[in-house]
Amino acid sequence: ASPSASPLRIAVLAGDGIGQEVVPEGLRVLDAAARRFGIALQLDHFDFASCDYYLRHGEMLPANWKEQIGGHDAILFGAVGWPQTVPDHVSLWGSLLQFRREFDQYVNLRPAKLMPGVHAPLIKRDGSAYAPGEIDMLIVRENTEGEYSSIGGRMFAGTEREVVIQETVMSRIGVDRVLRYAFELARSRPRKHLTSATKSNGISITMPYWDERVQAMSADYPDVMRDQFHIDILTAHFVQRPHTFDVVVASNLFGDILSDLGPACCGTIGIAPSANLNPERRFPSLFEPVHGSAPDIAGKGIANPIAQIWSAALMLDFLGHREAHDAILRAIETVLAPKSGAPRTPDLGGTATTADLGRAVAECI
Ligand code: ATP
Ligand code: MG
Repeated sequence: ASPSASPLRIAVLAGDGIGQEVVPEGLRVLDAAARRFGIALQLDHFDFASCDYYLRHGEMLPANWKEQIGGHDAILFGAVGWPQTVPDHVSLWGSLLQFRREFDQYVNLRPAKLMPGVHAPLIKRDGSAYAPGEIDMLIVRENTEGEYSSIGGRMFAGTEREVVIQETVMSRIGVDRVLRYAFELARSRPRKHLTSATKSNGISITMPYWDERVQAMSADYPDVMRDQFHIDILTAHFVQRPHTFDVVVASNLFGDILSDLGPACCGTIGIAPSANLNPERRFPSLFEPVHGSAPDIAGKGIANPIAQIWSAALMLDFLGHREAHDAILRAIETVLAPKSGAPRTPDLGGTATTADLGRAVAECI
């Protein structure tokens, strides 16, 4: 990209709690990468989608929020939620879930990579430790349909005959588009390996349909190695041999579970990033850390900003700046390396501040 290209327009929503502390570090590193690679950025800050905004306005978003951020190239998001003042279902439903639905962010992407300097919670079967980078997978979760439909209801409520039903919805368009994304992603990676998770032995209509669509699409990807597991055994494999997975794709519910488990296999929540993608870029995609607003440490300036910084890197990659993404990742790895002498936040065993760590990554770029 040349500096004269029209700037990437980024909507910045820091949200609540440590979102306010880690987003500035994400922007610091974004700025460093943009300078180094000549990427023109336009950052627009918004105060909605936060509990603070809710307390002032009685709602999480202004009526015209879609006009305000719908034309941006991407959204860099911090965290939302402050249960002491606003219940989580109000803050979450009123913000992130609106974005996900209205902007058709049908892919939820979460890298799970073991970084240097992070204590891995798992060991190999032979008792040895995993080396940095040895666990390196991308979890792709279907983000708009599947088990999380609100179709269903309660019958004979309050009686002994009470029955509750909630339907799973899988459409061919909905399944195929997330599978297509996952196959393409697998193809773009050195290992070219795609794992699909279902539960076709127990859930006999929707899950076999998913398997069928995977099978059909695999004809277009003879170069992609493919396997599939039932979700129960796959969770065991994640713990016992996480290094053997590359791209893993699953339905909304199973993807939700795997996308918590994958990053958990790689250590601290303070470093795990995520992306909610509308791959065609008809609407803005949203990039945010996996962690929440962390009320217990908010305001102390000790939150780890790496998850936010890495999320900003995913954003640059998605917007076509792979080399800037790679430079940020290398900077993160350099700073986290045990012998780097760089500052570490308390979750990494140090005493440094959020800004110390953010500055170290930015300087490295
Ligand atoms: P959710 O957003 O799913 O509601 P939560 O509010 O339950 O998540 P988090 O806010 O992610 O949970 O916090 C969980 C724990 O992880 C807390 O103890 C918090 O302090 C810690 N934590 C979260 N993010 C960070 C971070 N960036 N650096 C250090 N510790 C963190
Ligand atoms: Mg929370």
